[in-house]
Amino acid sequence: MARVVILGGGIAGHTAALHLTRMLGRTNEVVVVTPNSMWNWIPSNIWVGVGRMDTEQVTFPLAPIYRRKGIDHRQALATAIHPEGTSDDHTPFVEVTYTDPTRQGETARLTYDFLINATGPKLNFGATPGLGPDGFTKSVCTAGHAVEASQSLAKAIEKMKRGEPQTIVIGVGHGTCTCEGAAFEYAFNVEHEVRQAGVRDLADIVYLTNEFELGDFGVGGLTFTQQGFQTTSKLWTESLFRERGIRAITGAHVERVEEGVVFFEQVDGSKDSLAFDFAMLLPPFRGVDLKAFDADGVDISEKLFAPNGFMKVDADYTAKPFADWRAEDWPKTYQVPSYPNIFAVGIAFAPPHQISQPRTSPNGTLIAPSPPRTGMPSGIMGKLAASNITALIKNGSKAKMKTASMSDMGAACVASAGSGLRDGSAASMTMYPVVPDSVRYPVTGRSVADTYGEIGLAGHWIKALLHYLFIYKAKARPGWWLIPE
Ligand SMILES: Cc1cc2nc3c(=O)[nH]c(=O)nc-3n(C[C@H](O)[C@H](O)[C@H](O)COP(=O)(O)OP(=O)(O)OC[C@H]3O[C@@H](n4cnc5c(N)ncnc54)[C@H](O)[C@@H]3O)c2cc1C
Repeated sequence: MARVVILGGGIAGHTAALHLTRMLGRTNEVVVVTPNSMWNWIPSNIWVGVGRMDTEQVTFPLAPIYRRKGIDHRQALATAIHPEGTSDDHTPFVEVTYTDPTRQGETARLTYDFLINATGPKLNFGATPGLGPDGFTKSVCTAGHAVEASQSLAKAIEKMKRGEPQTIVIGVGHGTCTCEGAAFEYAFNVEHEVRQAGVRDLADIVYLTNEFELGDFGVGGLTFTQQGFQTTSKLWTESLFRERGIRAITGAHVERVEEGVVFFEQVDGSKDSLAFDFAMLLPPFRGVDLKAFDADGVDISEKLFAPNGFMKVDADYTAKPFADWRAEDWPKTYQVPSYPNIFAVGIAFAPPHQISQPRTSPNGTLIAPSPPRTGMPSGIMGKLAASNITALIKNGSKAKMKTASMSDMGAACVASAGSGLRDGSAASMTMYPVVPDSVRYPVTGRSVADTYGEIGLAGHWIKALLHYLFIYKAKARPGWWLIPE
């Protein structure tokens, strides 16, 4: 019998846990260590953030699902990995601290045969002074943050109803942020809500982003065919912003936020500030606070983790200029080379480099959108790790490993642009591959036939359908595995 320990019960970890129990049966042990009791469908936090959904609609308790599926659920935070065990006992283990109210603060060691690190991001608000719910801006990264954002937005709308103009700033709060698609989505939803409330003329909505140009989305932009003509996500997105009267400030690094004012620098080195009444700025991400130790207790964190805290896997991490980046630099199995029984999936793995071209201002400030690892690739990686671990448990060294590089993986993104069965809309985009491959696709780096963008009501219906489908799947209801990642 083998024991697989999964750190993180989010999109990647929960997907891995469900597939592992399906593939391995109950003769092996699957343990999920995750600090929250609730699962959150994060993409729908956008709708919580504009008051169109409540937290109960985007979260559910994990414990009953794990009980039904025979998964050992530990509501705890992993703090350290010991991949070589100790000098007395070489069985690898992780150290955890319980967050479960019945065992709060208790620590434990969990041994493993295989480990999946699916701990996602640390929301690094601390990188920008004044950023985040403990500072002066809102966030929609967790359901709780989104509720606060919605309450604050409602107050701004109330003020506009009383005739007070409001400046609304939405975007990213640092030059190295990722997830620009989520900020774009929230900006469009807020614009929709303000219009629905009949106060659009009193709202100055500003999109503040580290993207060098609109439509970059941290993937270097897209080229696609629309109604027989080739266009770019830059043109397409600029037109969407113009139609909605949203101003954009691009290539920006937020230096700090004070009450009602955001201070930023742009790629050309210019510095400016913007006064706001309501601001939602996403934080930069880094790896969670996990350490690693060898059998003698020596700290080997640098061996396992990149400087940004994400876990190093089977990628080529050699530092090289932008022009030399290759699709094959990206990981294929997400296995840690020095400890092949450890996998890191979803946001937890360290990307070898950005996808979008990084830039530095004349003042030396790095303004470089980080690569997005969205829900679909995170789910695919979770399933891949489950499948490869199953093969390793069943066939040992003869196991044939499957691969799923982001340079050979497509992604679909449906960015809501306003909720409502009849008046909603969404920008739907597909891209293949996520990481451009200039060898296979010399002109644009991607397959133009498989890269696509469209906006309309149908997109909203798809986004709403995906909300219910993915929650159904995460609850492991009958036939859940037939729903693709
Ligand atoms: C506002 C917003 C909107 C988004 N919209 C979309 C969208 O429309 N489409 C899309 O594809 N993607 C979207 N994304 C991205 C998507 O949410 C992520 O790609 C996805 O959640 C990544 O999955 P993950 O499992 O790597 O991380 P997560 O889902 O964040 O899961 C990480 C888990 O690890 C746990 N954890 C953290 N630290 C520890 C620790 N020390 N020990 C144990 N467990 C730990 C966390 O509590 C969490 O449960 C959005 C993201 C945001 C913030």
